[in-house]
Amino acid sequence: MRVAIPKETAVDERRVAAVPDTVARLAKSGFEVVVQTRAGLNAGHPDSAYRDAGATIAESAAQTYRGADIVLKVREPRESEEIGAHEIELLPEGSILIGFLNGGRDPELVRRLAARRITAFAMELIPRTSRAQKMDALSSMSNVAGYKAALVAANSLTKFFPLLMTAAGTVAPARVFVLGAGVAGLQAIATSRRLGAVVEAFDVRPAVAEEVQSLGATFVAHEPAKAEEAGSGAYAKELSEDDQRRERELLHQHVAAADVVISTANVPGRRAPILITREMVESMRPGSVIVDLAAESGGNCELTEAGAEIRHAGVTIHGPVNLAATVPTHASQLYSRNVLALLQLFMEDSSIKLDFEDEIVRDTCITHQGRTGDQLHTQRNTEEAVPSG
Ligand code: NAD
Repeated sequence: MRVAIPKETAVDERRVAAVPDTVARLAKSGFEVVVQTRAGLNAGHPDSAYRDAGATIAESAAQTYRGADIVLKVREPRESEEIGAHEIELLPEGSILIGFLNGGRDPELVRRLAARRITAFAMELIPRTSRAQKMDALSSMSNVAGYKAALVAANSLTKFFPLLMTAAGTVAPARVFVLGAGVAGLQAIATSRRLGAVVEAFDVRPAVAEEVQSLGATFVAHEPAKAEEAGSGAYAKELSEDDQRRERELLHQHVAAADVVISTANVPGRRAPILITREMVESMRPGSVIVDLAAESGGNCELTEAGAEIRHAGVTIHGPVNLAATVPTHASQLYSRNVLALLQLFMEDSSIKLDFEDEIVRDTCITHQGRTGDQLHTQRNTEEAVPSG
């Protein structure tokens, strides 16, 4: 079977879906691997490293996709000026596509994938279960983003992060307030602590208090009126109106005292909760910084502009949308391991077998044999499939 690794076409994308290490593993498992020239260059992997790992280098996107049974990508197929076509048109009919496919936000893409009879797996739909942990690409990317958010904040702040004792006097450490202590939040806490800041963190799930404290930060506790309002699983449920108001009062005090706020609060499938109001921003000291990781899903700060850096009342507000791509070497390493783990789930000897009874396969597959995910869910019992060779 032939596995293709095209060069990503999105302008801001520097990651690659397979690094030489994963290519070597695929080659060892009997797959023929074709990598588009310069596909891994921005992530630190020249063509020669892929060749050494057992891949063939293709000179163009068209050559890379030609005859592929499986295509591994980071981002969803898109119209590309460089290629002069939509990437979907290059996908061989009946092939398997794995990547962050963004299907929920782009039904037209799903329709086109189904029309081309592509078996498409969306990495953003990997369930957050222990069995799927090694495939959990969203968590991998949140880890990278949480780390980078702390660096963006430190770089933008007009102060030091650590306590400094110098002959010219003592410098107090920066105060960092992290909102949402999930994957990205915990990494932002850990990185801010490593840089020497004094860190506080807030989350609606009291269960994370211990993790926050074990990283050397203080947990800011808010007691919802009804204990069951706070989610107990890996994700939080949305708070009631009343609790949001009470929460805002608590947050206001901590935001006003902070030099840096890193916000990562997220409720899956919904708009990000607004936790930082205009009034709160205006109560911060000039020179303070907000890094809003929830920018793409609407922002945790009401002033955030996705993909932009703005200033309001002397406060810099960053709304980054693809921080993982700014640490392309390690983001690609982690992502390619996640993709390989998903692929290994499908591998049987040297062919591919899809078991639609498996929760991971079922939840992640958005199109198969001309049907979309919803249609598949109803028909999954009759499924087996898939192309080999
Ligand atoms: P996660 O689900 O692991 O964590 C989110 C946390 O927010 C949870 O702990 C949850 O309890 C908490 N939360 C929910 N509602 C809250 C509220 N009202 N107040 C306080 N806490 C609340 O998610 P994650 O993987 O850490 O991702 C966090 C955010 O970062 C998401 O919006 C994600 O899309 C975003 N993200 C952005 C980038 C980027 O480059 N900008 C990259 C990766 C992730």
